[in-house]
Formats: sequence, structure tokens, C-alpha cells
Amino acid sequence: MKKLNASIITIGDELLIGQTIDTNSAFIAQEFNKAGIWVQRRVAVGDVYGDIWKALDDETAISEIVIVTGGLGPTADDITKPLLCKYFGGTLVENEQVLKHIIYLFEHIYQRKGPLLESNRKQAEVPDTCTVLMNERGTAPGMWFQKMVNGMERVIVSLPGVPFEMKGLIEKEVLPRLLKTFSTQVIIHQTLLTAGIGESMLAEKIKEFEEALPAHVKLAYLPHYGMVRLRLTSTGDNKKELEKEIEGLFGQLKELVKEWLVIDEDLTLPQAVAKLLKERKQTVGTAESCTGGYIAHLLSRDPGSSIVFKGSIVSYDNQVKMDLLGVNQNILDMAGAVSEETVKQMAKASLELLKTDYTVATSGIMGPDGGSEHKPVGLVWVAVASKNSVQAKKFNFRFDRTRNIEQTAISALDLLRKEILKA
Ligand code: AMP
Ligand code: MG
Repeated sequence: MKKLNASIITIGDELLIGQTIDTNSAFIAQEFNKAGIWVQRRVAVGDVYGDIWKALDDETAISEIVIVTGGLGPTADDITKPLLCKYFGGTLVENEQVLKHIIYLFEHIYQRKGPLLESNRKQAEVPDTCTVLMNERGTAPGMWFQKMVNGMERVIVSLPGVPFEMKGLIEKEVLPRLLKTFSTQVIIHQTLLTAGIGESMLAEKIKEFEEALPAHVKLAYLPHYGMVRLRLTSTGDNKKELEKEIEGLFGQLKELVKEWLVIDEDLTLPQAVAKLLKERKQTVGTAESCTGGYIAHLLSRDPGSSIVFKGSIVSYDNQVKMDLLGVNQNILDMAGAVSEETVKQMAKASLELLKTDYTVATSGIMGPDGGSEHKPVGLVWVAVASKNSVQAKKFNFRFDRTRNIEQTAISALDLLRKEILKA
């Protein structure tokens, strides 16, 4: 079966000046990938008539499916709809169902009093050449067009830019329709996470495995904060056969990297740690100085976190370290806030206060200011406490503030993971 190709065009000046990060493309690409649709190009253009028109010409020339997001708002800068109307040779007509939906939203959901504004009423206008995709989550409907380009059928779908609305339409309307319209290939991924080995070292270790992979199986290295994810992707027609084959290959890969393997699933380190704790019916809490609660955020981000994560004491200021965690004035005077003694005391005290099986404590100098000759920016102490032990580790990071914080969190969670596995 031939590969089914898609392009994504995101529209909006805000994307080009970096004010809004284009998360729509990432979401669409992920969902399409799961469904066996290959996104071969992503293009961002401003709210400029000629640029949008050209992007449509370029992408319909190469892709069976073209998804457009943005530029559908009620304001003058949003020009996608009249442009699409012209592009597909139709006229704008008021759609009764969309108008009813808009009136309903304004009356009942937004609770706006008074008559509908002309600009909002205009959102019910759609080109008569499209199929309307009802947008339950907002006023601007999606629009589905079909067109022959160079003798080949193309589907062009225009969606609102607001991520929440776009997502609803992709899931409820666009994907089901696409899967009815086209037959797709199977794409299977298997991902694992490693820690403690760099990307190039890892590549050396699995060189022969990589070279022996069949052409339809690809290996990707995804490094992130000192950890590397490895992803195997297989593409073909027969799902059962592909699954069987990838299972074998993934098994080989796991064996080759077992020394550094964190988890053989597409999970982040916080998720892997949470899973480990869940399996052991254990809990964790944090006492954070330099990470300011960021580790607590990472541990509480996923649904169901409350089973393993109990709470946090953000003791940023020394006074809080003393008042809430009993860190000694003496320790602070002699060893300082960024020291082995301090993080160990923070971890021990929070273990009692939070009544958890483990606690993680951090204290460090994140920069750009606050460093000294003996304690430079990037110096971090991390401790992990459990009933039977308190382990501390020193790190020297050399990044900017944001990355220092993130790297501290990841290193602390990895230390926690190792302590859990020791038990
Ligand atoms: P629009 O449909 O152009 O009126 O877009 C509405 C809002 O959606 C914009 O103000 C952005 O904040 C957001 N938005 C638009 N395009 C994207 C995108 N590609 N990724 C994430 N957010 C977007
Ligand atoms: Mg816009």
C-alpha cells in the first residue's frame, strides 16, 4: 500500500513572531501518525493572503491531505475563510445549524446579553463548496473540501486555531472521516527510556543492531536532559506481522541496553518513577529549595498521581528551611544552604512531616546570580530519604537558570528511582 501523505499549514502572525508556540502541528502529527498517516511537511505562514494561497498550492501538489489551522476568528486579521471560498470557487452562505449553535453558545455558555454581534453572526457563514464540521467547543466551524489536483483526489480541512477546539474537531470529525475516505498503512512504535549513557555512546553499543534493521523499521534517538529515548518505528500493511516482528526487535534492543534501561514504555522519567512506586504501593513527597516545587509539579501532572505523590514543602528561604524543616542555624552557618548536611536534613524532616516512604530534597544555585568561587552557579545538592537511609549527591550543572532547574529535577528523580530499586 502506498504511503498516505499529509501536510499541515498553520496560519497566524503570532506563530511567526514566536508569541504563540505552534502546538497544533505537534498534536495533529501525533494523532495522524497513530492512524497511519504520514505528515511529510509542516508550514507556518502569517495572516497574509498571498502566503496562505501559495501554501495551499504547494501542499496540495504533494499531499493527499492538507490540514489548515488558524485564521478563522471573527476579527479582521482572520482571512482564511474568504480566501478558502475563493480558492475552492464558491460563495459564502449562512449555515443554519452553525448559526443555531453560535446563538446557543452566546446565550447559555458565554452568558452574553443582547443581540448577536454582526462579527459573530458572520462566523456561521461557510463556503457552499465545503462540508461543515460542527465545532462543539467554539463558534468557528471546521470546513472540509475535496478537490482534484493533477488528476488526484485531495482533502483540505480548515480548522480553528484555538488548540482545545482544533483537538475536538480532529478527534470527533476529521480522523473518522479521513479513515473512511482513505485506506492507511499501519505504523507501530516501540519506545524505551535510558539514563546514564550519552547518545553517541549508546549508538556505538547498538551499532550492529541498527545496521541489521530491515528497511521498513527505523530507529530514532531522542535525547532529553541527559536521558535518551530510543524509538523503533515499523511501517507496513499487515498489523499482526509487524507487531510480531517489532516485538522481537524490541526485545533485542532492550537486552543490548539493559544496563541503562529505565523503562520499556514511552513514558517520561516522572511517569516511570510513579509507575515504580505504584507497583510497590509506596509514596513520595518533596522538600524543594532551588526547584521551587517543580518536582512536585512533575509528580502531580498526570491523572491518578495522588496514589503516589503526597505533597511538598517548598522551603525556598532559609527561614522556612529552619522553621518548617528544622534545618539548624549551625548547619546553615557552617555548611550553607547548598550543602550535603542541609539537603539531608530537609529530606529527613519532610519524610516525617509528609508521612511518605520516600522524599526528595533539593538545594542549589540556579543562577544567573548568587554564585561564588566555592559555590558556583549550577552547584546542586540532592538528597533522597527513606525509612532506612538518606543518600545525597552533588551535581555541577552549567546551563541557564531554566535548564538548571529542569536538570536538577530530572537528576533528583533518577536518584530516587535508583534508591527505590535498591530496596
Ligand atoms: P485564530 O483561529 O487564528 O483566531 O487563532 C486563535 C488562537 O489560537 C490564537 O490566538 C492562538 O493563541 C491560538 N493558535 C492559533 N494557531 C495555533 C497553533 N498552531 N498552535 C497553538 N495555538 C494556536
Ligand atoms: Mg489568527
